[in-house]
Amino acid sequence: MKIFQMPETLANKIAAGEVVERPASVVKELVENSIDAGSTWIKIDVLEAGLEQIKITDNGEGMVEDDVERAFLRHATSKIRNESDLFHVHTLGFRGEALASIASVCRLTIKTSQGDSAGTYLSLEGGEVKERGKSNARKGTEITVSDLFYNTPARLKYMKTIHTELGHITDLLNRLALSHPEIRFEASHNGKSLFKTPGTGDLLQVIAQIYGMGVARKMVPINVETLDFNIKGYIAKPEITRASRSYISIILNGRYIKSIPITQAIIRGYHTLLPIGRSPIVVLQVNMDPILVDVNVHPTKLEARFSKDKELYSLVEEQIRTTFRQTRLIPELEQKPKETHKQSFQPTFNFDSTKPIVKESQMNVVANEMNKSFFQQEDKEDHNIAEKQSVASDNEIQQEELSTETLKQTFELQREHDKKEYLALEDRVPVMYPIGQLHGTYILAQNENGFFMIDQHAAQERIKYEFFKKKLGQTTKEVQELLIPITFEFSKQESIFIEHYKTELEGVGLFFESFGNQSYIVRSYPNWFPKGFEEEVIREMIEQIMHDERIDVESIREDAAILMSCKRSIKANHFLNHDDMFRLLEDLRKTTDPFTCPHGRPIIVHFTTYELEKMFKRVM
Ligand code: ADP
Ligand code: MG
Repeated sequence: MKIFQMPETLANKIAAGEVVERPASVVKELVENSIDAGSTWIKIDVLEAGLEQIKITDNGEGMVEDDVERAFLRHATSKIRNESDLFHVHTLGFRGEALASIASVCRLTIKTSQGDSAGTYLSLEGGEVKERGKSNARKGTEITVSDLFYNTPARLKYMKTIHTELGHITDLLNRLALSHPEIRFEASHNGKSLFKTPGTGDLLQVIAQIYGMGVARKMVPINVETLDFNIKGYIAKPEITRASRSYISIILNGRYIKSIPITQAIIRGYHTLLPIGRSPIVVLQVNMDPILVDVNVHPTKLEARFSKDKELYSLVEEQIRTTFRQTRLIPELEQKPKETHKQSFQPTFNFDSTKPIVKESQMNVVANEMNKSFFQQEDKEDHNIAEKQSVASDNEIQQEELSTETLKQTFELQREHDKKEYLALEDRVPVMYPIGQLHGTYILAQNENGFFMIDQHAAQERIKYEFFKKKLGQTTKEVQELLIPITFEFSKQESIFIEHYKTELEGVGLFFESFGNQSYIVRSYPNWFPKGFEEEVIREMIEQIMHDERIDVESIREDAAILMSCKRSIKANHFLNHDDMFRLLEDLRKTTDPFTCPHGRPIIVHFTTYELEKMFKRVM
């Protein structure tokens, strides 16, 4: 006989290879258990990025003595009993594997009580029970994991630096906290606080704790409900951006997920408002009937599968777009009003809209720095900032503790502020009266709200872009003869694609006549083509077909409009007279997105009257 069934401890150790990849996985499983146990307060204390110790304390329902040992058996769970339960899972865990797996690769102690009588104490080593006893009757559970991977040296070797492992932990905790604003989280590393959330259920307060007050102040609420979905959350004004997409958090039915298509929908929603290569800060809570969601994907993967996905993507995109259409987006020097109750607003200069302008509090420094590790994306610029900040964090910097009271006040103000910002289209940019031109490049203007500087090229790009986009709006099959037919020489591969997509191309009004050797002649062009750019647009269509294997007229029109608006716009160093300037500003006011050019650069910078007075010390 050669086949033996493995002892349970060995099987658990093997399974642990999948569930417990690194210290952050332990934190994830334990905190999720605390959430599932109905805790309203969860404390996470980590030593040496979890390699030395991870201690999770909660005030959840606890376990009765008889259940404690059973919880460490494989496939032991209180969360599902039969197959049909699998379709109604409302807890984060349900496989019953985590505790067994974790315990098999560390030294673990647990104290747990349901609060009515003495609690239970248990200690395990490599999954084997070493000690049983009683503990106090505090309602809740405390699990301490020490010497992680002490008995799996190969795994230990794979651990990266403390910095990286801590990064994974912080990133995970940020997301758990964002997913559960109703839970009070307290997280520390080596005795230093990482963050604390107030547990009031207010997502904006959690955002403030994690990304800093500066970011929280620039968040715009989003809220939409359809028959199938309810979407809530906050989207950052495009004036603050980040280099990596890891600042986009998506929470599906209370569970943090990763979703490339939803992320892309968010980016599309921002459309031309984002500078190239920058990502927004977004926290989106999506709720839908659990029956539409399949949670039974791989336990450590954060993906989700759900029905009606296409509807959801376009809802997200559309909602973000409309929200910004109704929001005043001119970056301005923030005011520090004189009233004492508004003290929490700090004045911040914000000329460079591509950079975070916030002075983030020290407690968020680690979190922000760590966030980057999530998708392992590096950004030199951010990295330098992070480096400077982490040096600073080594020196004892006073933490910007925000009492719940101040936070509340701030957010009431923030809400007021946002309410006021929903304006009719034409009121978002007030009439501006030109004063003159600076360096032949910027228009200087004024009105009762203060002083404005407008980048004339960017402004005209925006105006032209919207004009061309409208003009290119109607696609018909109608064609116009070209005065001089255009001939193309395509590569073998390109010509294969052209042959293959011939009908589709003809469907949008493009006829390629072959005259051998991959050469083609085009004698007419569709009416919707931008005049003067026929050849460029045709080339772009072929590139698109090769790349996407389909024709997306919408995006071709979009690119064509950007191209034309840029080529046809007045450049810098171009003199404009008073009337030219006034007309330009008026046209700008009438655009749908007057704040950024089609490449996402800012168009208007505003100095409020108050700030001007402050600069000249007319007011204090
Ligand atoms: P799962 O979460 O998939 O059920 P786990 O191995 O993570 O599996 O946990 C096993 C069981 O132990 C849970 O179903 C739950 O009943 C119990 N448990 C674990 N952690 C806690 C906790 N912090 N508070 C109360 N019960 C817990
Ligand atoms: Mg679990």
